[in-house]
Amino acid sequence: AKAEGRGRVEVFDTRLRRHARERLRTAAALERALSLGELRLAFQPIVALADRSVIGHEALLRWDSPGGVMSAPADFIPVAEESALIVEIGAWTLLQACHESAAAFGQDEDGPAIWVNLSPRQLAQPDLPAVVADALDSSGLPASRLRLELQERVLQGAPKTARANVAALRELGVGLALDDFGTGYSSLRDLPVRAVKIDRSFVAALESSPGDTAIVAAIVSLASALGIHAIAEGVETEEQAAQLLALGCPFAQGYLFGAPGPRITSDP
Ligand code: C2E
Ligand code: CA
Ligand code: CA
Ligand code: CA
Repeated sequence: AKAEGRGRVEVFDTRLRRHARERLRTAAALERALSLGELRLAFQPIVALADRSVIGHEALLRWDSPGGVMSAPADFIPVAEESALIVEIGAWTLLQACHESAAAFGQDEDGPAIWVNLSPRQLAQPDLPAVVADALDSSGLPASRLRLELQERVLQGAPKTARANVAALRELGVGLALDDFGTGYSSLRDLPVRAVKIDRSFVAALESSPGDTAIVAAIVSLASALGIHAIAEGVETEEQAAQLLALGCPFAQGYLFGAPGPRITSDP
């Protein structure tokens, strides 16, 4: 049994190493591809559903290797991300996307937008606003035509640089979009939950922030549509209780109704 165990460790180790070697090879090939001009962008139209008019395009990275194999972004982007090559590739993508949009639709403020994916690593680079500004300058594309797609998770507990970058990009007049929005809700579909407990940070902000009110309203209506209960946490004031009730939230807990106590009792 002992020998078998050791054997398994070795197999695992070899596989890990092979995996690491493969990634290194891909990273090196990708670096070559970038300098040889083997990377290109594909553009997918984004339309207004009512009349199907094209309001813009999303730029998606493609890699045509000479062998004729076209690697999928899902394979090579994680490798680029790991090796920090994504920063260089991302800068190229931004520049290329701005130039192609300006070439196709001119420099009119109201022309169709170009949507570009930003990797978490790019967002962490202090010079990102400068890279974006350069791409706009050299292409003549108005900032309002450029939309950058960010992943939701990179903004949660975002480092200072990422936050500063987001502010600077807004300052430039570039539009921002949250990519893959709603993936966080998938647990509502995948898990057999009976209730959602609304975080008290939303409850605390109810009185002062219309944005938080809208989020709570959306959670309550989502829960109700799915037939699950919404329970608001951290309710401390009558105002919050009244507002939650008005929003259709059926249940709550918090100091207003009772602090945690030593006994189970139905007395408030
Ligand atoms: P895709 O072109 O294969 O790209 C896959 C993912 O790679 C993208 O997902 C994005 O996360 C990443 N990616 C692509 N280009 C770049 C880039 O320049 N920079 C960075 N940092 N990441 C990049 P995303 O953003 O959700 O893109 C939508 C995906 O859905 C694309 O896949 C697109 O080709 C695909 N798609 C579009 N329409 C359909 C459809 O009707 N059906 C299916 N099954 N897929 C579709
Ligand atoms: Ca995207
Ligand atoms: Ca997406
Ligand atoms: Ca809790």
